[in-house]
Amino acid sequence: MSSHSFQSIERMPVSVRTQRQAQQLSFWSRLIGIAAPPSHSWRGGIKLKGYKQLSNATPIIRLPADHLLLTIPLERGRRCAQPCVEPGQYVRKGEVIGRGDANTPWVHASTSGTVQEIGPAFAADSAEPVLAVTLRADGLDAWAERPPLAPPQSVEALVERALQMGIVGLGGAGFPTALKLAGAEQPDLLLINGAECEPFLTCDDRLMRERAQALIESADYLAHLLGISQTRFGVETNKPEAMAALREAAIQARTSVQIRPLPTRYPAGGQPLMIKSLSGRNLAPGARPAEIGVLALNVATLYALGRAALHGEPLVSRVLTLTGDCKRPGNVEVPIGYPVTALRAVAGARADGQLTQVGGPMMGQPLPAPSAVISKTSSCLIFAAERYLPAAKPAASCIRCTRCVDVCPMSLRPLDLYNAAQNQDHASLQALRLDACIECGSCSSTCPSNLPLRDSFRQSKMEMRR
Ligand code: SF4
Ligand code: SF4
Repeated sequence: MSSHSFQSIERMPVSVRTQRQAQQLSFWSRLIGIAAPPSHSWRGGIKLKGYKQLSNATPIIRLPADHLLLTIPLERGRRCAQPCVEPGQYVRKGEVIGRGDANTPWVHASTSGTVQEIGPAFAADSAEPVLAVTLRADGLDAWAERPPLAPPQSVEALVERALQMGIVGLGGAGFPTALKLAGAEQPDLLLINGAECEPFLTCDDRLMRERAQALIESADYLAHLLGISQTRFGVETNKPEAMAALREAAIQARTSVQIRPLPTRYPAGGQPLMIKSLSGRNLAPGARPAEIGVLALNVATLYALGRAALHGEPLVSRVLTLTGDCKRPGNVEVPIGYPVTALRAVAGARADGQLTQVGGPMMGQPLPAPSAVISKTSSCLIFAAERYLPAAKPAASCIRCTRCVDVCPMSLRPLDLYNAAQNQDHASLQALRLDACIECGSCSSTCPSNLPLRDSFRQSKMEMRR
């Protein structure tokens, strides 16, 4: 459960006004006989203070493993790779240390060194300890021998490559990319999510600015292999440099690649909203993008997939944002398993029990333990979160103001959902479409009674799954 609240800076959502204007326009269009164009806009959402400038001004810095202890998670959700190394064994960077089955991505050593132990450890973004391999880095960062691998020439070969190179969704969900590719039934659109709509996060922004060419090459390869006619990158309008870099790189593309602006309005990067904005297609609750002809990937995932497919490189590092109350905010590329304590020193954050938020203030969570390590899905550390994320105020009774209804991007009725959740009324939760909730927290951050709406929906979903 969240112990903080990140408030919307705008009580009356712009989107509601925009929606009313759109309705009026549609009325007049019908009246004078003009067919209204398909709508790519969505209602709801909130304007948030971005805090992007804290960390987006400097280039990504690559951090070496030196002689640190790196603890590399083997487990994510219900999927766990089986360890295939033993304590005392020397491994090189890129060597397989955890082997997965047909649904579980493999895990690789993120530097060279000696295996110290295999056991439970906290990943920065997991609530419970997960199985992990701890390596003592030898400071050489020596790669294992990699036979030259040609880019896969069939979807099946790419699926196998993605699984064996450990590629997962880096936007937060950590879903195996191989399974997404395997389930992509003849998509005609490749949508790349570069929205990065959460405040504070700038790792995708810097990746797009600095590695635009590699991103376009990956998209080009993927579209060509899958026979996709059109690729669209969606980037929030608050990232003009990223958009410009992608547009320049896209000139060289062999396939059709467009760079499209997304509204700077949270949660513009939520999957159904991003798809709606970029294609006009509606993703029904519980449906997969493949069912509407879409393959959707986050920019960092596309980058990792490109490294694996075009260069035979396993996923052994990621870019993450260090921000908040620290002396050296910015973006760093770190080996997977890097300790958060070491990143605290890199960022010049206080070493005491300062609160640390992992991920963004809206969808992230507090660091589960001081000993936690960076996993493939850790995108951001916000230090001194209490300064930016004030402690949640006591909840009062619902005053039925319906602000939560106005801002919900999925057109739900959070106040009614909350009542049903409080009463553990699962039938009503189903009827009110709890399954469509994307847990964005727009309702909670707008509620004047400080009701923990989103947290109660998360809890109810878990209970209903059980
Ligand atoms: S839950 Fe909060 S925002 Fe929604 S109607 Fe009640 S008081 Fe208003
Ligand atoms: S009900 Fe769900 S989707 Fe709607 S605003 Fe709240 S958290 Fe977001």
